[in-house]
Amino acid sequence: MAIALRKPHEIEKLRAANRVVAGALKLLEEHTKPGMSLKALDLMAEDYIRSQGAKPSFKGLYGFPSAVCISVNEVIIHGIPNDYELREGDIVGYDIGTELEGYFGDSAITAAVGAVTPEDEALIACAKDSLYYAVDVIRDGMRFKELSQLIEQFILERGFVPLRGFCGHGIGKRPHEEPEIPNYLEGNNPKAGPKIKNGMVFCIEPMICMKEGKAVILENGWDVVSSDGLRGSHYEHTVAVVNGRAEILSKI
Ligand code: MG
Ligand code: MG
Repeated sequence: MAIALRKPHEIEKLRAANRVVAGALKLLEEHTKPGMSLKALDLMAEDYIRSQGAKPSFKGLYGFPSAVCISVNEVIIHGIPNDYELREGDIVGYDIGTELEGYFGDSAITAAVGAVTPEDEALIACAKDSLYYAVDVIRDGMRFKELSQLIEQFILERGFVPLRGFCGHGIGKRPHEEPEIPNYLEGNNPKAGPKIKNGMVFCIEPMICMKEGKAVILENGWDVVSSDGLRGSHYEHTVAVVNGRAEILSKI
């Protein structure tokens, strides 16, 4: 199936769904402090999403039990919110999806709980900066594989590695659509595969590890940690390609 090209009115629908995601992430960031339980944060985000007339699209997606993926410290992505209470020095990833009037939103941040180590600060900065770098370099006509290669180079130059086996993705009338957008070049030819075109809407989501980028999935079937057991960071935006450049939809 071809990658969908969205008309301006569809991009506005996607923007509306993504604005709700951005609002929920802002709320969670403001409430990131020692003593907050992951379940309380999840409920807070779900209430906010529903108050905006949207649905939390991750809840029930492939069987995921909650509205928000909350990933603490060595959990890089897909953490299930539990009774754990945040502690000073933790780093916590929030990944939220919404559905509004049949269109989907998806975005993620990593937040620091109080003061964190310089190493963790650098890890979080790498995830965030690689995302904004990717948004900045996107042009109509470049290949998705070229984008993946540029993200990988950025991460490696910062001294970190991308998590392997997970990727960004198209988004629209389903939460995950074509294409897959890994944060590393698959194969060795960046000039292969589909091109980025005006009207495409997709999620870029760097997932960064300290040393090894090999994923291990915990017994609950969801939480993804790195094989080295070290901390990870994740950032994500939904973008639309308009007038040859990427425009972030997941912002307030
Ligand atoms: Mg996400
Ligand atoms: Mg995503």
